[in-house]
Amino acid sequence: MTMIHNQWQALPQLLTEFSKLTEAFIQSSNSRPVAGQDIAPPDLTLTESGIEFESLIEVFSKQVVPNLSTSTGPRYWGFVTGGATPIATFADWLVSTYDQNVSKGDGSIATNIERQAIRWLTELFDLPASFDGLFTTGATAANYLGAVIARQFAGHQQGINVAEDGAFGLEIDVFCATPHASMIKALGLAGLGRNQITRVATQVGNEATDIAALASALAKSNAKGKVVIASAATVTGTNFDDLIQIRNLCDKHQAWLHVDAAFGIFERLVAGSEGRTKGLELADSITLDAHKWLNVPYDCGIFLTRHLHYLVESCDVPAPYLVTSKADPDFFSMGIENSRRFRALPVWMSLLAYGKDGIRQWVSKNIAQTKQLADWFADSPDYDLVYYGELNVVLFKPSGKDDAATTALLHAINTDGRIFVSPGKWQGQKVIRAALSNWQTEQVDLDIAKSALTELARAL
Ligand SMILES: *Cc1c(COP(=O)(O)O)cnc(C)c1O
Repeated sequence: MTMIHNQWQALPQLLTEFSKLTEAFIQSSNSRPVAGQDIAPPDLTLTESGIEFESLIEVFSKQVVPNLSTSTGPRYWGFVTGGATPIATFADWLVSTYDQNVSKGDGSIATNIERQAIRWLTELFDLPASFDGLFTTGATAANYLGAVIARQFAGHQQGINVAEDGAFGLEIDVFCATPHASMIKALGLAGLGRNQITRVATQVGNEATDIAALASALAKSNAKGKVVIASAATVTGTNFDDLIQIRNLCDKHQAWLHVDAAFGIFERLVAGSEGRTKGLELADSITLDAHKWLNVPYDCGIFLTRHLHYLVESCDVPAPYLVTSKADPDFFSMGIENSRRFRALPVWMSLLAYGKDGIRQWVSKNIAQTKQLADWFADSPDYDLVYYGELNVVLFKPSGKDDAATTALLHAINTDGRIFVSPGKWQGQKVIRAALSNWQTEQVDLDIAKSALTELARAL
């Protein structure tokens, strides 16, 4: 071990290296290949005495950095990937500097900053003040909390405190049409059984819940507890469920309504609370992601509910040294972890720095850009526009070609390195899926994408 490893006198040197690496990465984010190489790690061994800082930086910058993806860049259109804005990135650096444990709130303002960020998010999305919640690692963890809280609620309906006494004898039916894969995982983790989910039909031609089918599935169920999982929006078609009608059905059947709104909630910034997320405010619990369209660094999701007490019952930590008398429950009694990083800070700083309108601007820009691409695919002799759900995702395939050609083209696009896209499936056929959620995507990026796409389709 060398001096620098255990002396803060080395701070200037650490900051210098940090600046160099950071500047090099960010300034090359337009010129680097969008996707890195999925290669084996450097051929290094773990040593007894450690290596010099200079060697560490050398091996990291030469052997690791060139093979990282540029998912922060303007042409990474895979999955639903946000970039990270300058302010959010800056805030995230500081999270490590301050290294707060945001769980109990003693001795630090950080806990109250997280509470303030949650409150501002409900304001940003025009949700009632009755929603409360916490930051999670992502939408998967938030969906897991959604499954857990729904289970606790269903238990209460039949005289069982699941958190205290277990799920023995619990009757629960879960209904959903097009759940995100992470929701299915979450239901499995919560002991509700991936194979026990009742899959409700979708509307013809898109992924939204068929309301009549949901009504009849709910009516057929004899379970004492019922849970409906709705989407705003689905991850492939960006289809929005009719949350008003679903809420009415849930009321009729005393069912819990969890809405996975991971990225679809951002539609509220452009369309308001009367747009396609109308009724979201009536959900019992909501999942959203900040590392997608809010453009903060990984990992950052949010779980919101109007019934916090069920969450606290589920997540309560019964340790005497943790007992508090505060009115607000502690974060370790609301989520999975006892120890939690200052994940709220990048969101808190972003909301302050960009304001509602700053965020709205990149959301509406991305929607317009995706529409432009959809129109381009529709007109292109090389491509078929398969589906555009009027948000930030477009589905396309090489014109008149089969699934194998679509897969081959997807591979060619991602290897080329000018843009990065994901595979998808739409109404039984393979498609290529571009999702635009990055604050810094501009017209020039669309132009680069169009030339790459034309070239690669013709070379197929
Ligand atoms: C991305 C996504 C998830 C999973 O989110 P992670 O943040 O990756 O855990 C869940 N639901 C929807 C609708 C999503 O788009």
